Amino acid sequence: MAAPARPPQRERIAVEEGFTIPEIAAAARALAEKSGASTAVTPARRALFQELSDLGERRIRAMDEDGITMQLVVVGSPGVQAFDPAQGTELARLANDRLAAACKAYPTRLAGLAAVAPQNPAGAAAELERAVKTLGLKGAIINSHTNGEYLDAKKFWPIFEAAQALDVPIYLHPREPSPGMAGPLGMPGFRVAWGYGVETGTHVMRLIAGGVFDAFPRLKLVIGHMGESIPFTLERIDNRYLWELEIGGFARTIKHLPSAYFRENIIVTTSGMNYRLPLMMTVALLGIDNLLFAADWPFEKARDAVDAMDAMPLSEEDKAKIYHRNARRVFRL
Ligand code: MN
Repeated sequence: MAAPARPPQRERIAVEEGFTIPEIAAAARALAEKSGASTAVTPARRALFQELSDLGERRIRAMDEDGITMQLVVVGSPGVQAFDPAQGTELARLANDRLAAACKAYPTRLAGLAAVAPQNPAGAAAELERAVKTLGLKGAIINSHTNGEYLDAKKFWPIFEAAQALDVPIYLHPREPSPGMAGPLGMPGFRVAWGYGVETGTHVMRLIAGGVFDAFPRLKLVIGHMGESIPFTLERIDNRYLWELEIGGFARTIKHLPSAYFRENIIVTTSGMNYRLPLMMTVALLGIDNLLFAADWPFEKARDAVDAMDAMPLSEEDKAKIYHRNARRVFRL
């Protein structure tokens, strides 16, 4: 079969592209076996693992075919966050060393974010610093909750302190919902698009409500899936925040309105949302400078994301911002 024609040449940086290492996959499998979960290796799972675990020619070839010039590579969800603190910290270091080596081998094609283990907050902050200063990684990825806990808990704030001091973003990426939310959100077939989004969107709201951005006003948080549905509700969130305070007789809990933090501290990516109306609405609400292109390969087809973005009713200038200029600024690529 002939290779599909490549999309027209453009610079395209995709910023939420997955990888894993065999050690993390083996540890995740051992954990699943212990909990009695299914560990069946279906052909689809095997193919996914092969794509995730390659950081060399196979990945570059897939990028060439899809028209992706650069990937910002992140550890596949839930990464190292399900393991005990020592094992999670150790596996994060190993993953970051491997990812950094791949980025050095393909400096114009690959960049990466550091895996960190929030279950060891001081260790996670130290690993973020090592990954940025020594390995040249561009920030951190955190796959939503850690053992059911959310990052608004102050014990995790050393991670935010490190990110702000290093001037690098944290990508807050979904994973399967926390134990308290997993039951109601566990509808087969609806777990990912609805369940993961609601859980991660709730995490973002907890960070805003918990005063994280008052404490770290220069912190940048990147979130996927066109903002996990939050842009659509942003004005109502402000309105009902003020109303709840008034009706309940509460004092303000945060310095600014919720939407101010969303506009100032949060950057949104398009991962998995190759749809015209949500994109145009998000551009209108947040501004063209606050949107980044992501494909979420190999969980989604990068070619679908490219075809959709190429066809959006936006100027070349605006497409260049979404495709690469904003990513170069935000991640300092
Ligand atoms: Mn993803």
